[in-house]
Amino acid sequence: MKFLCNDCQQVMEFRDNTPSSDGGSLAIQYACPGCGRSISMITNPGETQMVRSLGVTIGHEALSSQPEPMAMIRESLAGKGGNTTVSAGPEPVWTEAALKRLSAAPTFVQGMVRRLYTDYARQRGYTEITPAIMTEARDELGMTGM
Ligand SMILES: [Zn+2]
Repeated sequence: MKFLCNDCQQVMEFRDNTPSSDGGSLAIQYACPGCGRSISMITNPGETQMVRSLGVTIGHEALSSQPEPMAMIRESLAGKGGNTTVSAGPEPVWTEAALKRLSAAPTFVQGMVRRLYTDYARQRGYTEITPAIMTEARDELGMTGM
């Protein structure tokens, strides 16, 4: 993509670009080497994506080298998986009373809460999870109302 200065019939030179604070739009500046006139091309978020996919450089950083969101998620998942199963003892057994107490938690958090308690119990070598252990874990992990 090039811009021509109509007065000088010279191709304008890329000068600078400024990403907006919201990251969605981009102001790409060109200046005419002949008369010094400068223009800015303002992109909308969709166009910014296109410009980025072309590998336009902002400052010293090539936009196309920025990690993709999915890559970051994959990385954090991989890291998490490697760390939370350090002291992998046997899977603790949930007692009936503990399960009953777990069922008092909102349905959408039960899976997460169950995971937290299970990890807590396993890391401490507990073979079963009782309401008492849930209380202990809750106090230690700083969870309330679970
Ligand atoms: Zn010019």
